[in-house]
Amino acid sequence: MGRAFVYVILGGGVAAGYAALEFSRRGISRGELCIISEEPVAPYERPALSKGFLLPEAPARLPSFHTCVGANEERLTPKWYKEHGIELVLGTRVKSADVKRKTLLTATGETISYKILIIATGARALKLEEFGVNGLDAENICYLRDLADATRLVGVMQSCAEKNAVVIGGGYIGMECAASLVINKINVTMVFPEAHCMARLFTPKISSYYEDFYKSKGVKFIKGTVLSSFENDSSGKVTAVILRDGTRLPADMVVVGIGIRPNTGLFEGQITLEKGGIKVNGRMQTSNNSVYAIGDVAAFPVKLFGEIRRLEHVDSARKSARHAVAAIMSPDKTGDFDYLPFFYSRVFTLSWQFYGDNVGEVVHYGDFSAGIFGAYWINKGQLVGAFLEGGTKEEYEAIAKATRLRPMVKDMIELERQGLGFALSI
Ligand code: FAD
Ligand code: NDP
Repeated sequence: MGRAFVYVILGGGVAAGYAALEFSRRGISRGELCIISEEPVAPYERPALSKGFLLPEAPARLPSFHTCVGANEERLTPKWYKEHGIELVLGTRVKSADVKRKTLLTATGETISYKILIIATGARALKLEEFGVNGLDAENICYLRDLADATRLVGVMQSCAEKNAVVIGGGYIGMECAASLVINKINVTMVFPEAHCMARLFTPKISSYYEDFYKSKGVKFIKGTVLSSFENDSSGKVTAVILRDGTRLPADMVVVGIGIRPNTGLFEGQITLEKGGIKVNGRMQTSNNSVYAIGDVAAFPVKLFGEIRRLEHVDSARKSARHAVAAIMSPDKTGDFDYLPFFYSRVFTLSWQFYGDNVGEVVHYGDFSAGIFGAYWINKGQLVGAFLEGGTKEEYEAIAKATRLRPMVKDMIELERQGLGFALSI
């Protein structure tokens, strides 16, 4: 049993949805493109799962957040794919790939062949088991990567109103889920190994603003330690979390966000990997000419920094997808991907954006007590990164532009004095 396509996108997440839109805009014939996804639904905006999807009132539900609404583009429903002659093979895991033969074998036993393959397999959530903690099949331990996880999380949250949740991990998932749990009237304790939240991006000063805000909403923080085990009841449900320092936290539910691993397994030994992802050039092309990689799984050259990076954020998934399709369909008109890294989050009434790289010396500015503040990162005399909380559209655009231009900064005291005005004046 087998089918053949010109283009196959392996994975049906954010990057796949944006690639499909780009293919249709550039003009493909019916039956040329196929998307294969383990998930049972058409590509959707994954960021909604930790935000609108978890709201107690008027929560976001599909089909409202299919790609590409997140970038204010068309919403690609299953009907759209049908009308455009794009084959969606959903609920189907690809279990092996043969890049020499240009074939994929699905778990249902079908062989799908391609002329061009785009790998968009994203990543999987790391499990506590991988850190030696057992008892993870309990029904009240929640991870959050896909729609099935989010649906389960909502169910568990609904049975825990006014009760206690422990959130493991102080990164993106931990911070966004903790806020959603509070909005659902659940008491939250966050536990993470670092000295402050979002430690890979935030400075201690920025973190303490968010931690204070969360504390004002009732969230408790236990930092500098990790969990060592769970206590369970006779049905296997977790009833308490035991930390390495001996602390026992009663828990009616646990949310775990301890990072991800890119889904590269199908291609190990067949194409070149780097930084835990699939190495691509500026055209998103892998070491095999017929295979491209986009989104979380791709390690690509970030021109601005002159090095290969793997980014785990939605803007990079969307733009790398479009770039790969441009390179495939218009090779002569498409140069190297020139991407400015962009991360953001929205929790409670707060909203921040970050552009560039967080290396070098940091200059904070603005009014932390009023919740309008930011920071610049200066490396070797040049502005390389910028953060802003509570900005307007124009202000965010200004910090993005400044970061892309990388102006020289001679006087840090003057930069601090000018604050946001520095970016606005560029
Ligand atoms: P994914 O969207 O993960 O899609 C990968 C797809 O491949 C999945 O459908 C998966 O099932 C499928 N797949 C994998 N292996 C196989 C296989 N063998 N066979 C078939 N199918 C397979 N980023 C931000 O910048 N801002 C945010 O606010 C934000 N919020 C987020 C909230 C949550 C809850 C999560 C989990 C992530 C969030 N992100 C956010 C990150 C962002 O969603 C990812 O960077 C983005 O989804 C990456 O897109 P992708 O297409 O590479 O991977
Ligand atoms: P992150 O990498 O953001 O954070 C993981 C956190 O867990 C870190 O604080 C990490 O500490 C900590 N940690 C690691 N190991 C352990 C452990 N054994 N016990 C306790 N804590 C541990 O990953 P997330 O899981 O939060 O997010 C998953 C993915 O989803 C990421 O790709 C992220 O980009 C994406 N996402 C993005 C959002 C956004 O951009 N707004 C929102 C939601 C998700 P350490 O640093 O020391 O390893």
